Amino acid sequence: MEIEDLISILQSGNEREISDISYSLMNVSDNAFLQKLAGSLELITPLSSSSYWSSHGNKHRVRVSIDRITTFLEAVRTTGCRCAKYLQLPYFANSEADKGMIEIILNEADPQTRKSKITCQCTACAQYYVAHEFDAGFGRRAQWEKLAKL
Ligand SMILES: [Zn+2]
Repeated sequence: MEIEDLISILQSGNEREISDISYSLMNVSDNAFLQKLAGSLELITPLSSSSYWSSHGNKHRVRVSIDRITTFLEAVRTTGCRCAKYLQLPYFANSEADKGMIEIILNEADPQTRKSKITCQCTACAQYYVAHEFDAGFGRRAQWEKLAKL
């Protein structure tokens, strides 16, 4: 996908499609591709403003999805790596490891509290993270933090 394709999807204003693409972009493993998109961030950012959509009935959900994309690409531009997404959305370490995005180094699970502390490393940039996974409401939640080093 080229930046022009992404822009035209965003300009379509299709809530569902834009939501889907915001999550699929965050699952891209190719850092070179993400950095290329991040280099065109100034083409995307205006599309998240309310004034852009004001004549189309506000499009709140569309703007939330576009904000998700711009926040992610800004972080990719700053950190240089896809793994910036872990501080933005609550991914589960095991499924990220299955996709080859990270490598799990240590999984400390407490059966009493059902809390897990998963130490892992990004397979692209070698950044360390700890993913905390715990029960919340009807499901599991995850919260990540960056580790300076092990
Ligand atoms: Zn990384």
